[in-house]
Amino acid sequence: MQCPFCGDSDTRVIDSRLAGEGDSVRRRRECVACKERFTTFETAELNLPRVIKSDGVREPFWEEKLSAGVLRALEKRPVNSENIDAALSRIKKKLLSLGEREIPSLKIGELVMDELQGLDKVAYIRFASVYKSFEDVNAFREVIDALEKEKSVDTPVLQAVKKR
Ligand SMILES: [Zn+2]
Repeated sequence: MQCPFCGDSDTRVIDSRLAGEGDSVRRRRECVACKERFTTFETAELNLPRVIKSDGVREPFWEEKLSAGVLRALEKRPVNSENIDAALSRIKKKLLSLGEREIPSLKIGELVMDELQGLDKVAYIRFASVYKSFEDVNAFREVIDALEKEKSVDTPVLQAVKKR
């Protein structure tokens, strides 16, 4: 990193140790050009990104909103809370690991759909039909047809989805 004294880009680390509660690293650096010494701290970026809505408006990430959306899709479905919590934390982990400061809401929707697809097909369709509003009607039809072939999915729900 750049030397804060002379601006030279050539600095070297002369000491490196854990700081805080082990969640950050403190580095002592020396500028190769002017020999000044300074300290840097390195911590993990662990903030959930801000959400870019479809109209371009940015808003903070609301975890409550994420879980409310997932729970709504899973209403009256035979999925236990433990599996739902695990899915929610996988979504959050993925968002954190992206390391982005802002993320389009559509991208979050895709992460949710990936999880719902594994949890419960009906919940997946419910969420997708609201969230993605399937641009291509045929794509929607294909998902419904594929689901109808699965005996685990009850017909009334599919009929309700079809009427949308
Ligand atoms: Zn310097």
